[in-house]
Amino acid sequence: MKIWPDQKPYYSANQYYRQIFGDKVYKISLDIGCTCPTREGTKGAGGCTFCSARGSGDFAIAGPMSIREKIDSAIQMVARKNSSGKYIAYLQSFTNTYGPVKMLVPVYEEILSDERVVGLSIGTRPDCLSNKMVKELGRLSEFKHVWIELGLQTIHQKTAELFHRRYDLPVYEDAVARLNQVNVPIIVHLIVGLMGETYDDFMATVDYIATQPISGIKLSMLHILKDSPLYEEYLEKPFPLLDESTYIKWVAEAITRMPQNIVIHRVTGDGNHKNLAAPKWSAYKRHVLNELHNYMIKNGMFQGLNHKGT
Ligand code: SF4
Repeated sequence: MKIWPDQKPYYSANQYYRQIFGDKVYKISLDIGCTCPTREGTKGAGGCTFCSARGSGDFAIAGPMSIREKIDSAIQMVARKNSSGKYIAYLQSFTNTYGPVKMLVPVYEEILSDERVVGLSIGTRPDCLSNKMVKELGRLSEFKHVWIELGLQTIHQKTAELFHRRYDLPVYEDAVARLNQVNVPIIVHLIVGLMGETYDDFMATVDYIATQPISGIKLSMLHILKDSPLYEEYLEKPFPLLDESTYIKWVAEAITRMPQNIVIHRVTGDGNHKNLAAPKWSAYKRHVLNELHNYMIKNGMFQGLNHKGT
């Protein structure tokens, strides 16, 4: 049984950031006003069907404010809990490399120049990473920490088509290779319990990701959000969602299949409760975290236990 210094049976984000920064670091979520190719027409409209109206960044600081004001406002919300005064700016809403490089890079630079910001995590899609943008990200990462977060969700094209992802796996692989060339670490987002996916389908995605040259993963349950296109589909034709104990079993097994160098940034989602239609159990994040921890300890499970290697 392996337990990490923060007493978790996996390599948590908390542990990872402490190693890098020597302290607890908070993430602050900022909306820099981007959209997505699947929302404004170049690759369809409406976005990925599970995504909220605010592009999965329901708590991000948005609106007509300067970058400095957005950072101030986001820090105000968590400063009480953060004695280190160190923050990672997280561009969570929409696709944050979708737009002209010459407009976006100065925004990243402005964020990174804030003395309180020790790193920048950019949520985006692999089909929105031009060579020029990747080169700029590599340059910025020499100045401060920069991560790219890719919403892959699944390796299965059939499922990807159901939720309108609108890019194929080779596009993701190409982006990962190019980001690795400039040493920008990658965090991949996966959704557990996607429509129609079985345990074996999910584990096929997990085993694939476990061999990827990436830095970390984020796992979350498929949520039905009231302001997402999926909500309408779900009302019209309900489909089964995972119950809490199945979710925990799947996630625990997924963690055991990851090599011990991949950081587990998230094991359950933390969206807007008021916006959540189903499954209701997923609103109780603390409960899910505790149950997962207890299940893994009770069954002698830890990250790397079932990793198949490369
Ligand atoms: S999941 Fe990402 S790419 Fe898809 S609509 Fe939401 S923000 Fe855009």
